[in-house]
Amino acid sequence: MEKEGKEKRERKRKKEKKEERALEKGKGEGKEKEQEHLEEEKRKSEIADVIASLRRILDNPLTRYVLKYISKGDTLEKAIAIYAGTERNTCVRCQFHSFLLGTALKYGARKLDIDEREMIEYFKDRSVQRGLANVIRGIAEYGITKPQRLHAPFLVVWNYTKACNLKCKHCYANAGRIAEDELTTEERKRVVEELSDAGVAAISFSGGEPLMRKDFFEIAKLAASKYMFVSVATNGTLITKEVAEKMKECGVKYVEVSIDGPKEVHDAVRGVEGAFERAIEGVKNCKEAGIMTGIAMTVMRSNMKYVPEMVDLAEEIGADRFVAFNFIPVGAGAEAAKEDLSVEEREEVLRYLYERMLRGKIEVFCTAPEYARVALEEALGREGAKVPASHFGAFTYKAVALTDFIGGCGAGRLYCSIEHNGDIQPCVFMPLKVGNVLKDGFLNVWHHSNVLELLRDREKLKGACGSCEYKYVCGGCRSRAYAYYGDFLAPDPGCILAANEQGKHEKR
Ligand code: SF4
Ligand code: SF4
Repeated sequence: MEKEGKEKRERKRKKEKKEERALEKGKGEGKEKEQEHLEEEKRKSEIADVIASLRRILDNPLTRYVLKYISKGDTLEKAIAIYAGTERNTCVRCQFHSFLLGTALKYGARKLDIDEREMIEYFKDRSVQRGLANVIRGIAEYGITKPQRLHAPFLVVWNYTKACNLKCKHCYANAGRIAEDELTTEERKRVVEELSDAGVAAISFSGGEPLMRKDFFEIAKLAASKYMFVSVATNGTLITKEVAEKMKECGVKYVEVSIDGPKEVHDAVRGVEGAFERAIEGVKNCKEAGIMTGIAMTVMRSNMKYVPEMVDLAEEIGADRFVAFNFIPVGAGAEAAKEDLSVEEREEVLRYLYERMLRGKIEVFCTAPEYARVALEEALGREGAKVPASHFGAFTYKAVALTDFIGGCGAGRLYCSIEHNGDIQPCVFMPLKVGNVLKDGFLNVWHHSNVLELLRDREKLKGACGSCEYKYVCGGCRSRAYAYYGDFLAPDPGCILAANEQGKHEKR
């Protein structure tokens, strides 16, 4: 608590300092600060130039024709693999396609100040190659759009089962017992085939508790064999050393374990004594097995004071990242709606998280899209400060303009979710069915759902989010708007910039 008080005072001091700086600028005093401001403006205009020239190159009919041509079949994947050096192919046509692609990528890298060798190294990962192919197909189909439309989602979160061994009070999935309409193992294989054919780059198994199903390993292995990045969101209690080893063997690359506070708090939230120790063991076992790990904390009124302690814990046990989940009152969470933070509390948590991210010991993310707005405000004038523009990635300032194209709420745009029975939703927190993978076809739903179409258009946002200067980099949490107002285009009631609109939109 003493530590917290100290940090609060520190934040207050910084805020005052920032206000002082603004005042100085206004009065024409503090030439150094003024210079800093001018440099910032210059950098912003350089970035705008970069985007404009990339648009000129990529967003013209000839380039799109070429991209469409290369995008057919698996030609594009081959061209990327040859460029990255993971495939040797002597076919002259493939070499030519690879040359065309390489020239465009080299140009883009130069403009964005990215080292080409580092970029090639990054592209050696086959799931990254899938992601790049997806972006190129998106540009071929739609041109450059803001936000960028993709041929398929980058990421699909699969609520793999309703079964769970814990009784969490905030569970969005209302999980517990296995559901009667859960897909069979054979049907699950078809789901993976559909996602793979669509070009999805990453799949995250969630739940319920995904490890409760015996076929988890078989299906995860199948997904990994298709070169998708496979991750698992779990309560961690079932991850023994053997299970961690088995996950590693199956190709699981990242495991995110939910821990909501110190022992007593976590066990109370999760409804099971001993859940905390087993979750910590789970993280350690994954680390030992060589799997990247993260700690996920659902931040609520009753546990927000433990956020600093939990980031410390994540650092101490060597987790690779800390992710603060934005509590949204859906599922079992609807019963605990009073646990939702006030806009001021959320703002305080977000600023704290960003300060921890800047310290750089560990990656610190938050699923509240307002995190990007807070980061942009805080990063101003701080050399090398990265800006987290999605739930899982941060950009250097030089590449920050890209955040307008790919940042903010990804629901129905960069990502969607699948339920235990194959139903497709824009987001795990938005219980709104837009189709079913096996009955309607995954890509068919992705390309033709009206709901997803609306979610991709930030011009359709209402109220404070619609007129906000951060609507591309943030866009508000669409699930939160849906949970509170039954309207996924309404302003995000969790944002301080939308606070004065509370009461203007009818609550559900
Ligand atoms: S008003 Fe909406 S778009 Fe703007 S920062 Fe807040 S949540 Fe994001
Ligand atoms: S609706 Fe958007 S911001 Fe909210 S949890 Fe889903 S993806 Fe994240």
